[in-house]
Amino acid sequence: FNRERTMGKDDLRQAKYVIDIGPLPSLPVAGSDLRFPVGRIFCVGRNYAEHAREMGHDPDREPPFFFMKAPNSIVQSGSTVDYPVATKDVHHEIEMVVAIGKGGKNIPVENALDHVWGYAVGLDMTRRDIQGEAKKMGRPWEMGKSFDQSAPCSALRPATEIGHPAKGAIRVKVNGEIKQQGDLSQQIWSVPEQIAYLSGLVTLQPGDLIFSGTPSGVGPVNKGDKLEGHVDGVGELTITYAR
Ligand code: MN
Repeated sequence: FNRERTMGKDDLRQAKYVIDIGPLPSLPVAGSDLRFPVGRIFCVGRNYAEHAREMGHDPDREPPFFFMKAPNSIVQSGSTVDYPVATKDVHHEIEMVVAIGKGGKNIPVENALDHVWGYAVGLDMTRRDIQGEAKKMGRPWEMGKSFDQSAPCSALRPATEIGHPAKGAIRVKVNGEIKQQGDLSQQIWSVPEQIAYLSGLVTLQPGDLIFSGTPSGVGPVNKGDKLEGHVDGVGELTITYAR
């Protein structure tokens, strides 16, 4: 006999699990008690020309490319986090985060913003030494990019409230000193283009986040550092590395 059956969505909502893995990764929504559930985290590589150049690449020749971080690498703004293990060179990458509210595949650029629920300020923290080694060996980047607490993120603000930011300052200060500063208008691939391109590679799902790339000025953080991120019209993010 065959005990197996297909579990529908309603069955799965009632499902009991054999172990407890705690609550779903999620982010606060500014000015609300509700939270945004985090599905997958996609990150766009080299999406600001100056940053592409500082990493040794020609910004004009590359189509967008994506890598991922695990959903549970999310850290809420205001947290104190531990300096990551297995590295001596952790870098900050300040990014605007796009939160997908409506899924889809092969989404046309013209409709892409209909799929965005809101925006946040994020940090794509990077173990640059591990990433560099992976690049050299032709291996995947994951261990340089997706690790414990590697995705600090501010509260989300809904697009119904703030619109869809396409220009405005993006910056991060380390211990009060501006280290990265750019403008959203410098993105090589705009948010609608990122969504269109990515949705041609995977079916986007509600809850997915897209870290939309970082301006130039990436650099190291140390134990005890305080990072303050800002994106005009989106918000602020504060993260402190424990001593
Ligand atoms: Mn990045």
